[in-house]
Amino acid sequence: MAKLIDRKKHLRRSESGKVLKKQALRNLGIGVYAFGMFTWYQQVFGDYYYSYEIGRYFAFVFIAVGLLMIYRATRYNLQIDMYNQYYYWIYQNEMFTLHELATASEKSETTIIREINTLINDGFLKNIHLNTKERTIEGAFVTSVKEQIQRKVIRCSGCGARNEVVENETRECEYCGRKLVYDHQ
Ligand SMILES: [Zn+2]
Repeated sequence: MAKLIDRKKHLRRSESGKVLKKQALRNLGIGVYAFGMFTWYQQVFGDYYYSYEIGRYFAFVFIAVGLLMIYRATRYNLQIDMYNQYYYWIYQNEMFTLHELATASEKSETTIIREINTLINDGFLKNIHLNTKERTIEGAFVTSVKEQIQRKVIRCSGCGARNEVVENETRECEYCGRKLVYDHQ
């Protein structure tokens, strides 16, 4: 039992976990952009005698590089938000079906498939893959979690029928509807 728990922890750690955003890159981009704009403004409207054409190119390079940095950081940050959200659902709340994810995110299953595939392709989600036929999430982590789920057959105290109960889940007897609780004995 301990071995499986260790395996689960190991798999969870082998994901990127909670990833930090690139705020520094974004702020630097804003700085570079602002500097470029300032330089350009000085070149065009400043009272300088030395307003060379080269100065404007110089300014435009800064503006372009600044904007590119902001774009890259923003795109990355949006992906990080998405990754952290899926990490929370899949790895921390153990949602392994598209239906569960769609309910939690209030998105369509098609959107979920697209987003998960993007994250896998960009190297964020490493230990899972989609089974679009079964509409589930698969992989070593999922298998590991499923192996740890305890099941047992208990006898209903109302009608005496045998029902299979999953750990930490309460279900009703198939025959009489009485509540059945998994007990750790
Ligand atoms: Zn019963």
